[in-house]
Amino acid sequence: MSFNINNSFPCNACGQCCRYVDKSTQTAYLSRGDGVCRHLDEQSNLCMIYEHRPLVCQVEKYYQVYLKEHLSWQDFVERNVQICQKLQQASY
Ligand code: SF4
Ligand code: SF4
Repeated sequence: MSFNINNSFPCNACGQCCRYVDKSTQTAYLSRGDGVCRHLDEQSNLCMIYEHRPLVCQVEKYYQVYLKEHLSWQDFVERNVQICQKLQQASY
C-alpha cells in the first residue's frame, strides 16, 4: 500500500509518546530529565512547539522522508499503533 495523505496516522492525541521520549535514541535529547519532553504542556497534552516540532515528531512527514522506500505506509502504521498501545497501557 502506498502512502496516501488522506490515510493519516490514527493518533488520538493521548500524549504518551511525548512522555517517554527517553525510550528512543532519536528523541532522548528532548527529555527534561524524567522522560517527559520539555515541550509538552502536561495540562493540555499539547506540544508547545507544534508548528516547529522536530521531524521525528511529524509522523507522516518522517515516513515520507526516511521510510517510504523501505516500508509500506500500512506496515508503518500498524507497527506504530502497537507502540502507541503499549505506551497507553504503561502507568506513569
Ligand atoms: S502515543 Fe500514539 S496515539 Fe498517543 S499521541 Fe503519541 S502517536 Fe498519538
Ligand atoms: S516536541 Fe512536541 S510532539 Fe515532539 S515529543 Fe515533544 S511535545 Fe511531543
